Amino acid sequence: MGQLSLKDVRKSYADFQVLKNIQLDVGNGEFIVFVGPSGCGKSTLLRMIAGLDSTTGGDILIDGVRVNDKPPVERGIAMVFQSYALYPHMSVFENIAFPLRVEKMPEARIREKVEGVAKILQLDKRLEQRPGMLSGGQRQRVAIGRAIVREPKIFLFDEPLSNLDAALRADMRIELTKLHRDLKATMIYVTHDQVEALTMADRIVVLNAGNIAQVGAPLELYHKPQNLFVAGFIGNPKMNFLPVNCVAETPDGVTVSYQGQSIQLPVASRPGMVGQTLTLGIRPEHLILGDGDMTIVVTPSVIERLGVNTVAYANLPTGEPYCALLSGSAPVRVEQAMATGIRAADCHLFDAEGIAFERRMDWRIQAMPDTVTAA
Ligand code: ADP
Ligand code: MG
Repeated sequence: MGQLSLKDVRKSYADFQVLKNIQLDVGNGEFIVFVGPSGCGKSTLLRMIAGLDSTTGGDILIDGVRVNDKPPVERGIAMVFQSYALYPHMSVFENIAFPLRVEKMPEARIREKVEGVAKILQLDKRLEQRPGMLSGGQRQRVAIGRAIVREPKIFLFDEPLSNLDAALRADMRIELTKLHRDLKATMIYVTHDQVEALTMADRIVVLNAGNIAQVGAPLELYHKPQNLFVAGFIGNPKMNFLPVNCVAETPDGVTVSYQGQSIQLPVASRPGMVGQTLTLGIRPEHLILGDGDMTIVVTPSVIERLGVNTVAYANLPTGEPYCALLSGSAPVRVEQAMATGIRAADCHLFDAEGIAFERRMDWRIQAMPDTVTAA
């Protein structure tokens, strides 16, 4: 079992509050990813779960048992760091075997376990080599192997792929996803890379300045961000934000206006918004060339052509940055006016405090569309 509960967990250094009242329940076998900008407290939270940092307040429970006062070795966790932290003078075999030697496991059993793990991680031909002879990806696999042999209840990973080049990172991402499926263990994975978060997580925890901004499945965060922070953090290029004026609220939605055009958005209305300045969010990939329910003409200053798509960067008539992600080789040019259409169904809406209006859509349908059968 590997169930984790964080109850009102806090951490301060002197009068600086790094983490504020963190509440989280992680189910046995879940793959949880902590994301957030640098300095938001991801590593601190992971190190507190591991027992490497003390807790200022609140309770950390593993399988229902409070572990705040237990040393790391008694918590049933194993942690993998960005810096692989291998012993350079020991072979791969001895590096993986290290925690088992500390436990004084019999030699024959150690060999059996290390060889089994090496096979899973494709290190079986490397066992006699030293870490210095391995590539970055292989070294990280040795560090992961050393975590696996301990058979922890919970794996903790702190940006384990950040030192690898882009191609290797993509390979390791897939390997870690398979490893999670095979081991069926609870994994908590810290990254600042939202692609890693979106592709690997069962659920993502978005941290912002020591608070949880939202917890949810990857596509839930993409389609239903609860606030401006999550809306801007999840998705690349980042969501566009337009300052709009609320002109009407009906049971069918909220009507807003921008530069003399109005659009009715299918979101749950809230009383008292008429006359207020709200923020309309539209993702770059949802803009269409030409007319939409609302059409915005901008002049791109930079265009990036990536083959699979074209990215145009411009500024809105009101000055804010504006980006369109268009498929294929789109017929747009630098310094030439381009009309972008916004469809009401694609829009997000946020109040003056940055809290989202509930969108009328089911993200689960986007996550798992009905199978299309050939006629
Ligand atoms: P992240 O991993 O999200 O980048 P960290 O958890 O490492 O962030 O750090 C969160 C905040 O706590 C940062 O502002 C950092 O400067 C501060 N911090 C971390 N460790 C200490 C420490 N030992 N003493 C004082 N401040 C610290
Ligand atoms: Mg960190």
